[in-house]
Amino acid sequence: MEEEKKCTKCSKFKDLSEYSKDKGQKSGFRPSCKTCDYEVVKKRMSRPEVKERVIKYQKEYRERPEVKKRMDKYYKEYWGNPENKQRAKDNYDKIKSNQWFIERKRKYTKDYNLRPEAIERSRIHKKKYRENPLNKKKEAEYSKEYNSRPDVKQRNKDYYNDKKNNPEFKERVTKYNKLYYQRTNVKDRQIIKSRQDIKYLSDKYLKTQIRSRSRGILDFAEIPEHLIESKRQALILKRLIKNKKND
Ligand SMILES: [Zn+2]
Repeated sequence: MEEEKKCTKCSKFKDLSEYSKDKGQKSGFRPSCKTCDYEVVKKRMSRPEVKERVIKYQKEYRERPEVKKRMDKYYKEYWGNPENKQRAKDNYDKIKSNQWFIERKRKYTKDYNLRPEAIERSRIHKKKYRENPLNKKKEAEYSKEYNSRPDVKQRNKDYYNDKKNNPEFKERVTKYNKLYYQRTNVKDRQIIKSRQDIKYLSDKYLKTQIRSRSRGILDFAEIPEHLIESKRQALILKRLIKNKKND
């Protein structure tokens, strides 16, 4: 029979293993049981200002070099042990199908993704991903395929029909269209399409043309001013010839 001790909070008699160790106490254990202590902590942590302070302190503590070194060593030893690895895996397999665990994981992921640093990191990652021409092509192919799926087409149609008489939606579409046609690349495309004067083409458009001609070898910053002007003149010449042919 293990030794029992009365909790000063809930007055229940509990096994000593139910008490945290406390060298400051004569008994060597906390006067209140782990469950009661946990309730106190939980209540304190439910106050946002306390939670914030504790998190800040923990972060600072973990970033101390000596603590970092100790933790690294501990983690290395702990996860280097195959037994610990297997146990963690078994535990995870056991709880991962638990509804409570799924809910908590979903909530955690949501909260995590809303943190400013997570948003920034994801933004950089997405940008890097899209800058890769291979991914660009893959993404374009995928969205083309996706949007041509009959069920997706129908869904988009239904969505539009459902919304088209909604004044708020109408306003949003008008606003978006206006912004869309103000974007220089769209404006430039319109200039080419509607055969407006080429002198209205933006430098950015011409630079893009030059860069794509160089197959990406030339960078925007490396394209000299006079080359941009030459490109403009070349386009004017091209159009002149085309017009003459059509006459
Ligand atoms: Zn208790």
